[in-house]
Amino acid sequence: MKTIGIIGGMSYESSVHYYERINNQVNVLSGGLTCAKMIIYNVNFEDIRKLMLAGEWDKIGVELSTIAKILERAGADYIVIATNTMHKLADYVQSRIDIPLIHIADCVADKCRENNVSNVGLLGTRYTMVEDFLKTRLRDNGLTVTTPQNEENINEIDRIIFDELCKGVIKDSSRAYYIDVINNMIHQNDIEGVILGCTEIEMLVKQADLDIPIFDTTQSHIDSIVDYSLERKLIKK
Ligand code: GLU
Repeated sequence: MKTIGIIGGMSYESSVHYYERINNQVNVLSGGLTCAKMIIYNVNFEDIRKLMLAGEWDKIGVELSTIAKILERAGADYIVIATNTMHKLADYVQSRIDIPLIHIADCVADKCRENNVSNVGLLGTRYTMVEDFLKTRLRDNGLTVTTPQNEENINEIDRIIFDELCKGVIKDSSRAYYIDVINNMIHQNDIEGVILGCTEIEMLVKQADLDIPIFDTTQSHIDSIVDYSLERKLIKK
């Protein structure tokens, strides 16, 4: 069994799902008292959030790559960053370590491919929806990606993530808002599926809320992490 190195805490509301489900899935597949070998470095998200808002991404890059190196030295065979947004720094972090970083976009793109879905909507933080780092990686995986274009939608989707979901607050009104935005993308952009490109959105929007398939980055990431941990799949170079 391989040892997983997780950079977590962004937010802890979603990291807890990584911890619980990775262990559970490894146990279901392996039986007995088996659980996953993993090392979690939980950051203080308040500090990171302040740096995000100040645009100090270089400092976040130094922090995350230092943590990745600590996890590597502690025996991790591969690294995962348990948030989509911080994949803005994935290439930088990967360049600073000698073990692979499992990119969350590759994991969710695999699920889309397995389901023959190529035209997808993407929801996430403002960074994820507006900037190119995740969209480009998804497009490199053969997907056509649409994000909400309306500034008011972008602000509200982002606000709900940081003001509510990252604090464990689940509101029906926010669910209705997300569903509305997704339904608009179905009508305007003919999307065949929607990627929940933020690790907390799965707490709010469920498959039963929509007529198109959901591709959740949290669960897709977890499934790949488990496969690599049990060596059911080899890490792509
Ligand atoms: N967990 C969220 C994501 O997947 C947002 C938190 C963050 O900014 O890292 O993007």
